Amino acid sequence: MRIVESAATVRALGEGTRGLVPTMGALHAGHLSLVEAARDQCDQVIMSIYVNPLQFDDADDLARYPRDLDGDVARAEAAGVDILYLPSPQNMFSQPPLTTVTVAEVTEHMEGEHRPGHFTGVATIVTKLLASLRPDRSYFGRKDHQQLVMVRTLVADLSLPGEVVACPIVRDPDGLAISSRNVFIEDRDRALTLWGGLAAAADAVEDGERDGRRLTGIVAGSLEVDSVDYVTLASQARAQPLTRLDRPAFLAVAARVGPVRLIDNLPIDMVGELFVPDRGVIAGWGT
Ligand code: AMP
Repeated sequence: MRIVESAATVRALGEGTRGLVPTMGALHAGHLSLVEAARDQCDQVIMSIYVNPLQFDDADDLARYPRDLDGDVARAEAAGVDILYLPSPQNMFSQPPLTTVTVAEVTEHMEGEHRPGHFTGVATIVTKLLASLRPDRSYFGRKDHQQLVMVRTLVADLSLPGEVVACPIVRDPDGLAISSRNVFIEDRDRALTLWGGLAAAADAVEDGERDGRRLTGIVAGSLEVDSVDYVTLASQARAQPLTRLDRPAFLAVAARVGPVRLIDNLPIDMVGELFVPDRGVIAGWGT
């Protein structure tokens, strides 16, 4: 594995089809599942690790974001990453950027409403990564479903390079969606109520429930948390709230449990006329 600090070097090392896995490090099985998908589909896997200050709406959250560079290098190498792109902040931006990228509509609700500026920070850095590294494919997790909708929109609107590939949510065996922030969880039972609610909603969808309010009610009624930011059924195409499940959607929840803000969602895909909830995959079982 080559460790590289400049985008030009990443491009010069490129051979064959190139898959990019953008991350903020503190690597876990969710990130590594994206690497595995990229390895299956591309000749070369590039992973970027950059804790992007632009996307943090809270300075404390940025300061305490978990960082483990030595562990990340070992995990990336073991997972089969060919090029690890580790730009320093100065390397990424020689001066604070005067240009930012904002994607309208798809960022209006849910995370966009509760984390002002967050999506502009993500869109700006994703634009920069795709424009400077020019991968053939880039890999994003359904864990951050609204972000995925935004990235798809951004890539289509600005004709950015590469096909966007969506990967399933990787969960711990008890169902908790894996996240770098899970190290801060103090009460796992209460954190697990997000997945408990989504799993109950998945059962209801399979039993024919299509009413948006009843589906969000199932999730909200299961939560044992300190505060709820939102429970929303949204369209996969535009991340707009839905009153009825009548198209591909995701049922998303964000809540605080003690010191940690958790997000999770249940993608609901359409296979022909059928609605199929995607419960994700369990870490270690084929990941
Ligand atoms: P992050 O390092 O949190 O910015 O995440 C980098 C990428 O990994 C994003 O595309 C995330 O959606 C994805 N990701 C994070 N956690 C998971 C997970 N549990 N399952 C699948 N993808 C994930």
